[in-house]
Amino acid sequence: MFDSVLIANRGEIACRVARTARAMGLRVVAVYSDADRDAAHVAMADQAVWIGGNAPADSYLRGDRIIAAALEAGAGAIHPGYGFLSENAEFVEAVEAAGLIFVGPTAGAIRAMGLKDAAKALMAEAGVPVVPGYHGADQSDVLLAEEAGRIGYPVLIKAVAGGGGKGMRLVESADGFAEALASARAEARTAFGNDAVLIEKYVSSPRHIEVQVFGDGERFVHLFERDCSLQRRHQKVIEEAPAPGITEEMRSAMGAAAVRAAEAIGYRGAGTVEFIVDGSEGLRPDRFWFMEMNTRLQVEHPVTEAITGVDLVEWQLRVAMGEPLPARQENLSINGHAFEVRLYAEDVAAGFLPATGRLHHLRFAENLRADSGVREGDEISPHYDPMIAKLISHGPNRAIALSRLRKGLIQSQVAGTVTNLEFLKAMAGHCDFVEGRVDTGLIARSLGDLDFAPAASPEVVALATISAIFDENAAGAHAGFALWSRPRRIVQLTQGDKVWTVCMEIDGPRAVTVDLGEEQVTLERDSEGHWRAGGARIGETVALGESVTVFASSTHIFAIQNPLEREVASAASDHLVVAPMPGVVSAVLVKAGEPLKAGARVALLEAMKMEHTLCAARDGTVAEVLVSAGDQIAAGAAMIRLEEESEDAA
Ligand code: ADP
Ligand code: ADP
Ligand code: MG
Repeated sequence: MFDSVLIANRGEIACRVARTARAMGLRVVAVYSDADRDAAHVAMADQAVWIGGNAPADSYLRGDRIIAAALEAGAGAIHPGYGFLSENAEFVEAVEAAGLIFVGPTAGAIRAMGLKDAAKALMAEAGVPVVPGYHGADQSDVLLAEEAGRIGYPVLIKAVAGGGGKGMRLVESADGFAEALASARAEARTAFGNDAVLIEKYVSSPRHIEVQVFGDGERFVHLFERDCSLQRRHQKVIEEAPAPGITEEMRSAMGAAAVRAAEAIGYRGAGTVEFIVDGSEGLRPDRFWFMEMNTRLQVEHPVTEAITGVDLVEWQLRVAMGEPLPARQENLSINGHAFEVRLYAEDVAAGFLPATGRLHHLRFAENLRADSGVREGDEISPHYDPMIAKLISHGPNRAIALSRLRKGLIQSQVAGTVTNLEFLKAMAGHCDFVEGRVDTGLIARSLGDLDFAPAASPEVVALATISAIFDENAAGAHAGFALWSRPRRIVQLTQGDKVWTVCMEIDGPRAVTVDLGEEQVTLERDSEGHWRAGGARIGETVALGESVTVFASSTHIFAIQNPLEREVASAASDHLVVAPMPGVVSAVLVKAGEPLKAGARVALLEAMKMEHTLCAARDGTVAEVLVSAGDQIAAGAAMIRLEEESEDAA
């Protein structure tokens, strides 16, 4: 028994585990690195202990410090979450040696499944179908190439110590083998400090279907399957349960095989047995093979929770307390269907580059379960995985769960960083996915066809313009609107290399016209403060000074560029005030000999239907006024000259 648990992790999984632990009446101890001092998982805990610097090797991988923190805080158990130390057998031994309970399997079970080659051999022995291939100790280039030929191309080279899709290479034919082997080994050496590989038949039309298992060391059940075929570069993007198109026969064959795997190692706690399935002719009970077992809670466990009603973290904690398995196989059943998407701060257009930024605005749809480790105002730092949340939908069947997911994604809003939200929406609407025709290559094949950055409509640009000009957020916030002194304003919005120079004109207290050059959009504000075009609401906005995010059916981020500021800033010399665009001088506000402070207003220029204020770029004295009110001047014309620094000094 224990009444206090330390969570040796961060982010969404630390928050997820804390939620259940607290609901069970346990005291929660968090650990944190420098960057996580104010993180959500720390705020949720009863006590938090600092364990080191930002690099995982200095904190979340420091088993010694984590154990010391648990002892110091009086925690009786350690939950490892996933990643970090969750599959580290030495850590488990150290935890137990310190007299603490590890919420997870034994060190022996972790070791048995830790290396893919040994795990495959063990599973083959236990009668679990394994992918045909070579997983021997002889690692000579010549032998490996021979084995690849014997297995038959295409083959997959895998690091035996691999994880997260690293150290894996698909080889189509014998000519590519040597090069792929060298690069897989190099990657495996860097990532895992172990360059041994195995070779597997590359399964065609591959589907990744995994089975959630649970054991108490003596009895074992499975909690059905999850389909994780929607992957990008061997990393899961969208998961669902149950697997589309699966038959009862296939399900019981896979479930039985997974339970056999758990039995073979006397498994305790939550685990996942991953299978690769040949889906080229539908799902058939003789076409699935063991790939690996993950001896921990899986990222995508919420879809299983949604369809079974089981809280897997509660089961983990109860089994760790010494209780027997909370349910028998015959008590478990599937209720409906569930999906999970992984929402990341990443730049999809730039090749899914991880992104950072402060989450100035964060809303998750109410109809979705959102497992997140960040709150509005938090920062996605460069130190860790840029996951913002996992969003989970559930429904009585696949079609309804999927519509709920799609609706929920439209209602979810993130401003302050780029995200993969539009990519997730596009995938969730992909016709093959909608119909359940999934395989691990679907995303890669679809990338070229899907629109991950829908073009902004004129109404969306118009709404962005209003938000940019008033620098105010969302609907209903334009309190000072009617008092706005300038009837016309111009603003430049950009999206990548797309540029809109837009002019907004106030028509009355509730209406504006936005001129986009080729098109004009008239917007009216309704009684709740929402802007409408042709009677329809356009969306909501978040203005962040230099950018505006519009949430319509898609998210559109615009950078705001005031042409005036931009051109003044780039003017070659700071002793001249020049016209940023052609126009008519409406007033000159200074005289020769007058001392000025940087930023002082010096003249007004009417251009492009609106009046611009020109300001001094530095402190100084006016040397010469070169224009008069009423003058028509060209872009770049000098208007005011300040004395040179040396003249000033004199
Ligand atoms: P899972 O199989 O649980 O879905 P993945 O295969 O997507 O996890 O992730 C690959 C590896 O990266 C796993 O070892 C997992 O524990 C780890 N991992 C994934 N996401 C995170 C995260 N947000 N923080 C830390 N580790 C992670
Ligand atoms: P990791 O430890 O990196 O998760 P896995 O062995 O679980 O490695 O494989 C990761 C992914 O690679 C799978 O989800 C699947 O998409 C693909 N994959 C693995 N083995 C095969 C195979 N034999 N044939 C086709 N695809 C495979
Ligand atoms: Mg895997």
